[in-house]
Amino acid sequence: MSILVNWLESLHKEMKVTAKCSRVRNKKSTCRYCMEKCKHNAIELNGELLIIDTKKCTLCGECMIACPSSAIEGVASNRNFEKGSLIFDKSYTPSLKELLIYKKRGMTSIQISDQALNQEWEKVLVDTNKRLKLLDESPITVTEKVRDEVLSRRAFFGSFQREGKQLAKRMAPVAWKMEQDDWKITKYFPNYQFYSVEINPYECTLCQTCFSLCGEVVFKLMDGKLLIKAEWCVNCTSCRDVCPEEAIKIQPEIKRKNEQYEFVHSKTCKDCGHTFYTFDKETEKCHMCKNRDPDWLSPYE
Ligand code: SF4
Ligand code: SF4
Repeated sequence: MSILVNWLESLHKEMKVTAKCSRVRNKKSTCRYCMEKCKHNAIELNGELLIIDTKKCTLCGECMIACPSSAIEGVASNRNFEKGSLIFDKSYTPSLKELLIYKKRGMTSIQISDQALNQEWEKVLVDTNKRLKLLDESPITVTEKVRDEVLSRRAFFGSFQREGKQLAKRMAPVAWKMEQDDWKITKYFPNYQFYSVEINPYECTLCQTCFSLCGEVVFKLMDGKLLIKAEWCVNCTSCRDVCPEEAIKIQPEIKRKNEQYEFVHSKTCKDCGHTFYTFDKETEKCHMCKNRDPDWLSPYE
């Protein structure tokens, strides 16, 4: 059965960078998570965009798991599970984010058979369990593989049914298997934030460039406030890369989500007459007019 499954799988596998990639949306993006994760140097920059070299790509799926924006479609071909356990395989080391996501998908343990976990797996497991504690979740345990039992007639035919379903699932083209946002950590822990997002109101000019480039819609101007939904931030760094004032600070920090906002004021510029937003109640001129060289003749005077 497994030879047939592997053969069928080989017909459909490919990794694909989608339009959700921050480099597609933002020419100033410096995001390199996938490139840094790929051990085979299969991801290259073509101008600002990423391309996957299919000759070098081994379809390991590491890039797909690493992408904060869930912008790569494909399958992690060497991950194997059995009854809620991830089977230990020393040919790769799962990431912390990956284990957190598997935990929320129902994985409870890592299964070992004749070998103990290696140092890399041990480390990531300890780190993951520390984060799970902060997230009010039970830890992932290590279990030993139970030796195969002799199957009853009923269980034997039941196992055929299960295998059949798995086969049908594996035969589906890659794009069908990947649900949108499958590797986005925020989807699994909606009541927590993984990053703190701060905008410095003394530096920010409320130009709103970052608002439109954030694929997670973290920033929103509403009812006289700038709302910051830090619980949706995936640390794609797009906002930081684009901000001309270097006014944004993103840092890893797991905590319960809370309402975060800054008051903003809508004004009409004394010089140019355009409406603008500002954090400063007393300001009378928009950012452009305020910073115009005073020796230049104002087009509005
Ligand atoms: S707020 Fe977070 S998700 Fe949005 S652009 Fe910035 S780093 Fe990316
Ligand atoms: S890009 Fe920078 S200056 Fe413009 S709104 Fe965002 S934080 Fe403020």
